[in-house]
Formats: sequence, structure tokens, C-alpha cells
Amino acid sequence: ISPKVLDLNETVENMLKLLRRLIGENIDLIWRPDSHLWPVKMDPTQVDQIVVNLCVNASDAIGDHGRITLETENVEIASSEARKLQCEPGDYVKLAVSDTGCGMEKEILDRIFEPFFTTKEVGKGTGLGLSTIYGIVKQNQGSIEVTSEPGKGTRFEVYLPRHNGKT
Ligand code: ADP
Ligand code: MG
Repeated sequence: ISPKVLDLNETVENMLKLLRRLIGENIDLIWRPDSHLWPVKMDPTQVDQIVVNLCVNASDAIGDHGRITLETENVEIASSEARKLQCEPGDYVKLAVSDTGCGMEKEILDRIFEPFFTTKEVGKGTGLGLSTIYGIVKQNQGSIEVTSEPGKGTRFEVYLPRHNGKT
């Protein structure tokens, strides 16, 4: 793991072609970057892992036709909200992936970060994607939040601490 000062917008943009190929032609991919995004300090490969895993899950949840939206945004997390998100208050860069897929019932939602938890057929999922993301996010003092509505879709929000300084 070699952390680097990163513009998450660039990291995501470098992956858009790959993502379009992964999700296929029938799913729209919308990219909404915040144009003045703060830097983060992270291993770029770990960012790739987060984005690919979230987009593949979104694509699996959608099936045939739908939309995946990728967004970035600067956010200041105040102490009241930090308690809820289980992170330190301060400046964060948010990376959000939303889909118009099947959504999740609460019983599923409660378990998605467990290693090897999957609802997919044998051979289609290992159940390791989200537990890996969770580990990466925690290792970087970040936070992850999920909202989901059965039949409507799901939104994952990943918060990564803003990098202050030059190196
Ligand atoms: P896998 O994709 O191998 O099943 P993950 O850890 O990536 O493992 O996801 C665990 C489970 O969480 C999935 O099997 C699925 O039930 C649920 N899940 C994850 N992302 C979504 C999503 N975007 N929409 C609906 N369900 C999801
Ligand atoms: Mg997965």
C-alpha cells in the first residue's frame, strides 16, 4: 500500500472506460464530479477497488436496464453527524454511487459488510466486495453509509478525509 495525494475526480475519470465496459450498454453511467474537490491521501489502487466493487454491485442489482450515478463532493462533517457516521468531525471528500436497482430489505442491509455474506448464486459472488471496501475505508479513517429502498435502488456514500499539506 503506497498512499499518494490524489484528486479523486482524476482517479475516477481514469476508470470510466473500464466501468462502462463492466456494466454493459444497457446501463447508463452518469458522472457528476465536484469541480473544486479537495485532495485525499490514499493508495490509488484502493480507490479503484472501492469504485469497481460498488459499480459491479450496482450493475448486478440493476440487471437489464437502469442507471448508475457516480458523484464526488466536498463535505464538512460536524460533530453531531460524525457520531452517527462513526468518524472524526472535519473535512471529507464524499464519493457516492447510486443505482436504480433492486434495493435491499433491512435484514440484508444489516449484513452486507460481513465477509462472505452474499445473496448471489454460487459462482457469481464471493461476498467479499463490501467487507474489503469497509476495511479500506476504516484503514483510511473514513466512513461509509448506505441507504436503500427495495424496488427503487441503493446509494453508497464513502467519506474519505481531506488531505491537508503538500505530501
Ligand atoms: P457480492 O457482490 O460478492 O455478493 P458484496 O460484499 O459486494 O458481495 O455484496 C454483498 C451483498 O450485498 C450482495 O450479495 C447483495 O445482496 C448486497 N448488495 C451490495 N450492493 C448492492 C446494491 N447496490 N444493490 C442491492 N444489493 C446490494
Ligand atoms: Mg460485490
